[in-house]
Amino acid sequence: MSKCSNKGTLSADRPPLGASAPMGGSEPNAVGSVGVEVLLAEPRGFCAGVDRAIEIVDRALQKFGRPIYVRHEIVHNTYVVNDLKARGAIFIEELDDVPPGATLVFSAHGVSQAIQREAERRGFQIFDATCPLVTKVHVEVAKLHKEGYEFIMIGHKGHPEVEGTMGQLESGIHLVEDVADVAKVNPSQTERLAVVTQTTLSVDDASEIAAAVKARFPNVREPKQQDICYATQNRQDAVKVMSPQVEIVIVVGSPTSSNSNRLREVAKKLGTESYMVDNADELKPEWFEGRSRVGLTAGASAPEILVKAVIDRIKALGAVSVRKMDGIEETVKFPLPKGLKIDT
Ligand code: SF4
Repeated sequence: MSKCSNKGTLSADRPPLGASAPMGGSEPNAVGSVGVEVLLAEPRGFCAGVDRAIEIVDRALQKFGRPIYVRHEIVHNTYVVNDLKARGAIFIEELDDVPPGATLVFSAHGVSQAIQREAERRGFQIFDATCPLVTKVHVEVAKLHKEGYEFIMIGHKGHPEVEGTMGQLESGIHLVEDVADVAKVNPSQTERLAVVTQTTLSVDDASEIAAAVKARFPNVREPKQQDICYATQNRQDAVKVMSPQVEIVIVVGSPTSSNSNRLREVAKKLGTESYMVDNADELKPEWFEGRSRVGLTAGASAPEILVKAVIDRIKALGAVSVRKMDGIEETVKFPLPKGLKIDT
């Protein structure tokens, strides 16, 4: 296990996705505004699963050449997807759009058994970028299913991770999106029932829903360790510490990113005005008028280069200093699948 790194995921002609932002600085480059301080959440941005998924596509491009087909956005971030597209990745939703003999990468969100089997049947060279923490949930579902369990899955309908996890079985996984859904769910038996969750939910919302499940089905089996991943938990915890200290929170993340949306909601629930932006151009000057302290974080799929651009833009709007908050140092690193070693 070593510190998360973004090395090896970048094109030569672009600035590194993981380039770190300059800290501090006290030059008033503002448009006449009073000095705004930017508080930078720790941890923020790329998690180990996103790092690994991008590196898999990057290495596949280096090793096998363009094009490399990727089923669904490798991670939910516009910049990352466009960067990989420019370098030869083709993002598809349907396997029919992948030509025979192609190299195919499954996204970090995971795929159903049906997609896995069909891709194998078609003979593609497959690299699975499913985050190992999502795979862990798949493995648990398969194991408990053999023991006769049905499942209540807490998650968002239509999210690819939920489709992938529910698609581990032909039937027997019942989705609940909120507490109200728990009353409506209708398992065929209640003796062997287990809870699984999407990895990127709000920790607080998920535990409220899990409590409602437990109240309705007292014998339900809960995961030994919750399925919400370390990165989701750590980023939400950092926003909880930061929010009371700032007047607004800016989250860097794409609209499709579940964990980024949850970060904005966490700040909002704590009463702090919060906005999510896909890039620095989406910042609105009026958000910063009359503010003295702004909080900044980034979802697990948002690269640090976007955070740096947002800092530069806030500085242009009046920020005079940037302060990194104390926080957990993440050291998780997941191994790459076999077959992607680059000969040097
Ligand atoms: S957010 Fe969590 S589950 Fe998703 S890729 Fe990152 S570490 Fe894996």
